[in-house]
Amino acid sequence: MKRFDAVVIGGGILGCFVARNLRRWNISTLLVEKEGDVCTGITRANSAIVYAGYDNKPGSSKAEMTVRGNANMDSLCEELEVPFSRCGSLLVTYDVSSVPKLERKLENGRQNGVAGMRMLTGEEAEAMEPMLKKGIAAAVYAPSTGTVNPWQLGIAAYENAVQNGAQVSLNTSVNGIRREDSGYILLTSGESIACKVVINCAGLYADQLQQLLFPPSTRLKLDGAEYLVLDPLARKPEHIIFHQADSCGKGITAIPCVEGNLLISGVRKDLTVPFATTAEGLEELYADTHRLLPELDTSMVIRSFGAVRPNPYRESGESIPDFCVENPAPGFYSLIGIKTPGLTCSNELGLALGEKAAAFLQAEKNICFNPHRKAIEKKKEDPDYCQILCQCERITKGEIMEAIRRGATTVDGVKRRVGSGMGRCQGSRCTWEIEKLLEENGHGAI
Ligand SMILES: Cc1cc2nc3c(=O)[nH]c(=O)nc-3n(C[C@H](O)[C@H](O)[C@H](O)COP(=O)(O)OP(=O)(O)OC[C@H]3O[C@@H](n4cnc5c(N)ncnc54)[C@H](O)[C@@H]3O)c2cc1C
Repeated sequence: MKRFDAVVIGGGILGCFVARNLRRWNISTLLVEKEGDVCTGITRANSAIVYAGYDNKPGSSKAEMTVRGNANMDSLCEELEVPFSRCGSLLVTYDVSSVPKLERKLENGRQNGVAGMRMLTGEEAEAMEPMLKKGIAAAVYAPSTGTVNPWQLGIAAYENAVQNGAQVSLNTSVNGIRREDSGYILLTSGESIACKVVINCAGLYADQLQQLLFPPSTRLKLDGAEYLVLDPLARKPEHIIFHQADSCGKGITAIPCVEGNLLISGVRKDLTVPFATTAEGLEELYADTHRLLPELDTSMVIRSFGAVRPNPYRESGESIPDFCVENPAPGFYSLIGIKTPGLTCSNELGLALGEKAAAFLQAEKNICFNPHRKAIEKKKEDPDYCQILCQCERITKGEIMEAIRRGATTVDGVKRRVGSGMGRCQGSRCTWEIEKLLEENGHGAI
């Protein structure tokens, strides 16, 4: 049986950052993921926003971590060589009766220490974002809001964790947990694993995973969201636009992503099929988009996708508004239902869990920890870097080969590492070539 000081269950962005931050300490670490790659769950389908921190209740851990996570995002993205755009955001309303709601957000922001926020008149907001429908009553401007690619950030944290000595077991599902005097035994689809600390980062299944050993305490109710993705060539707003639900529509969000695409997300929906879209949902999203951004050319939509949100609630039915980190027994920690702003706070949550585990294990600092990770290079003195396979995004064979070397085993895994297949043709021209390279490197075509 393998033995580790700490095992992280789940390789989403949170598990990857927890593993990375455990390695800041002398803690032998294993990351266990049931799929063949990391960042394929909630992390692959969300809004990619680095929140400013004015939405969260003053004094809550969400508020504190969001403001800190936002402030630290430049240095984190520099360390991990991940692009980050601090594009700023506008929260707009078309109803005078909704202005007090915006004023409350502004006050929340002030209390939470969000820098540079201010109220704009409708004219000021329209001048900043001429594509918005005219008639804005007021807007809150938050210059610190930004956007980062969630799976790129998660994969970068994963690579940095591995580079610092974390071990990984992919295609391994934890199916049972036993408690022993010396810690925990994890019964998996492969070998059993012994450890002193368990950190449950199982995303949509985190409640069920904790119930493998403990009585139910917190449960998850899942709901959905739908998204449209526009071609980077489409004319788009420069700031993230949050639309407060009002007479102009239900409240969509438009996000000019760091890669250049515009992402549009709608309101919460009851979940039908996880990660799927519905015809009615998309119809409504198009209609709300036309109302808010009448000049947006929606013929430039190249993709739509569905997302799943885990909402935590107590056995009593009461919902849990703050981050829920449970500690049902010494050395066992569960992150349950970490939804928005989990991406913004991913490194902060990882740091916090690393410190909890280190205190429990009385671990020393790892003086060899290196926070820097190199991104896949765009150019190299190698003929493979002159051969473009993904024409839309101009991704070369060399980059794709490097993505495979770094752990991509599927076309989707390559896409999440280098951005191939993200453009206008959505991979219709390069998929077969990437499949061929995957097969040549021992991975069956997916
Ligand atoms: C619709 C939506 C929009 C969002 N937008 C934003 C945003 O704009 N900004 C922001 O800051 N945050 C946002 N968030 C929040 C953020 O996306 C999440 O907090 C974050 O992605 C959660 O990551 P995770 O690692 O917990 O989950 P996941 O990414 O789902 O990872 C969990 C992993 O655990 C694995 N697993 C599960 N069970 C087992 C098992 N038994 N054994 C082994 N492995 C297992 C799964 O395969 C999965 O890979 C959004 C969330 C949603 C749902």
